[in-house]
Amino acid sequence: MIPFVDLRAAHAEVAEEVAEGFDRVLANTAFVQGPDVAAFEQEYAAFTGVPHCVGVGNGTDAIELALRARDLPAGSGVVLPANTFVATAEAVVRAGLRPVLADCDDDHLLLDPAAAAAVTGEDTSAIIPVHLYGQLAPMAAVHDLAAARGLAVVEDAAQSQGAEQAGRPPVGLAATSFYPGKNLGAYGEAGAVLASSPEDARAVRLLTSHGSEVKYRHETLGFNSRLDTLQAVVLRAKLKRLAGWNELRRAAADRYAALLSDVEGVRVPRTAPGNVHVWHLYVIRVPERDRVLAGLQEAGVQAQIHYPVPVHLQPAFRHLGHGPGDFPVAERAGGEILSLPMHPHLTPGQQERVAEALDKVLRQL
Ligand SMILES: *Cc1c(COP(=O)(O)O)cnc(C)c1O
Repeated sequence: MIPFVDLRAAHAEVAEEVAEGFDRVLANTAFVQGPDVAAFEQEYAAFTGVPHCVGVGNGTDAIELALRARDLPAGSGVVLPANTFVATAEAVVRAGLRPVLADCDDDHLLLDPAAAAAVTGEDTSAIIPVHLYGQLAPMAAVHDLAAARGLAVVEDAAQSQGAEQAGRPPVGLAATSFYPGKNLGAYGEAGAVLASSPEDARAVRLLTSHGSEVKYRHETLGFNSRLDTLQAVVLRAKLKRLAGWNELRRAAADRYAALLSDVEGVRVPRTAPGNVHVWHLYVIRVPERDRVLAGLQEAGVQAQIHYPVPVHLQPAFRHLGHGPGDFPVAERAGGEILSLPMHPHLTPGQQERVAEALDKVLRQL
């Protein structure tokens, strides 16, 4: 069996440090907002080069809180790609705003700036580029559109921890998730908001903690969505390894590209010019995807689909009034995409077996 991710191997690398950290927290009982939380926030801000980091309960909350920090007009539109994990759209609705979906580009499956411009209207107040699969959406174009139309930019950086882009405009607000399977994963729920301005960071922090900065004085209606201290311990230990782990993911992606170069029918993923990819997911495209997926599973290869149904075809978003055919690139990709096992501890031997299994399944179609 070739697992899709290997959280056990990652844990083995940090086990000692995590155990020591947990002992420290258990000894001082600072379970909520303990010193490890502030330390992680500083370390993650330094890692990303964004001045402020606010730990929150999970990635979905991070998107909602970043949107709420900007106090956007109630019910106004927020542009986001149709092909994303549902949480991006969910957070928009929960923030009292309206998802405005746009199609992606066929080469990278990232938000298409021209499609985003076409759906931006008078009552659109923000845009959420999603850094899908581990590479950044085209941020210069997104910022050009945002500047021209007065939109707030909130990046969904849940899949792009450590990713870079040449010449990208500075981060205004970015939300990330430390769900266990992400490149930087906690041992439960966790997330963060990154902010360039102290005002945005303060607004997010206020919201995470019952709208309160001074105990029992509540400036605004808030939430309880703080980064757990035990999760901060895990994240501090793993953050030290993240750059190296991302390097291993890049090596694995190169190896897949070489192994799959002459497997007929496979379209391997591309890195957009200027991007440094961190390969959260390695997503190929194949004909008759469901049969290929079944064949791989039979061969003991744990492949998955991210994501089989775009947002506009989800029952929960029926109220947006879309139907099949509205976002053709996202829909066509939805029927072709297949995520192969990808993680820092994947071995060359395992990758060879994945490529062989894929070749065999495709030949039998
Ligand atoms: C994981 C993820 C989220 C949500 O994060 P949670 O921590 O699971 O709430 C949002 N957007 C994208 C693109 C994700 O991959």
